Amino acid sequence: MRRAAVLLAASVLVLAGCGAGDPAATSAPGSTTTTAGSSAGTTSATPTTDPTTTAAPSTTAAPPTTTSTSPTPGPTVVLDPGHNGGNAADPGTINAPVPDGAGGTKPCNTTGTSTDAGYPEHAFTWDVANRVADLLHDQGVQVVFTRADDTGVGPCVDVRGELGARVGAAAFVGIHGDGAAPGGRGFHVITSSLDPGGAEVAAATQALAVDLRDSLTAVEPVSDYLGTDGLDSRGDLAGLNLNTVPAVYVECGNMRNAADAALMSSEAGRQALAQQLAAGVLAFLGR
Ligand code: ZN
Repeated sequence: MRRAAVLLAASVLVLAGCGAGDPAATSAPGSTTTTAGSSAGTTSATPTTDPTTTAAPSTTAAPPTTTSTSPTPGPTVVLDPGHNGGNAADPGTINAPVPDGAGGTKPCNTTGTSTDAGYPEHAFTWDVANRVADLLHDQGVQVVFTRADDTGVGPCVDVRGELGARVGAAAFVGIHGDGAAPGGRGFHVITSSLDPGGAEVAAATQALAVDLRDSLTAVEPVSDYLGTDGLDSRGDLAGLNLNTVPAVYVECGNMRNAADAALMSSEAGRQALAQQLAAGVLAFLGR
């Protein structure tokens, strides 16, 4: 996987499927996945492959006249691949309570769900997030990840939720797969009912949710078991409640449903989902 920078440390998680809980868990500080420029802590990444980023300014060479067409860095988007591959092995960390953004606490993270065949949600979200990042980079968008790899623990949901503001993100998109009853099918986009960023951010959040919903319907039906027209609002998700930038979680499908599992388990399906997620984000950004 490549690009995108990551950050933060944190601590612990739980098990349980995604639908019920909140994602995220802990991990070690900083690490940067690919390209990015930073290290510990925050940072945003600048994809080397990004067409808009013209090469690093080498001191020795070329005169400053050769600028490329778009020297201005594009907006930053935080992608939050739910859960993490190491969560199940570290219940102490994952189950530790963290602020839930609603006056209480909740577990640092959970392990996430999986398909009946055993394809885990954390692997799905990691794969899709990297595909989305590639597509966004191609359009000059800078991407920051909430975790550096798919083998770590965490970070916790509160740390993830605060990242958007830390890096000045224009949008925060959490990527998940649901673990609902097998009869339910389809995707839904979740927003916080607490409007943590105020009215203006709440309106932008709603616009982001609608752009993603409209885009995703090209590859996946809206949920027939939850929400309304593919949209849902909740007050129990720390990663959204603590987010003061436009933020959503996308439950890309129900991993316990055979049709959704088939889509989500296939590389072509994940690429199709990623393309629609990226298109939704780009629509929101006006790019
Ligand atoms: Zn999840």
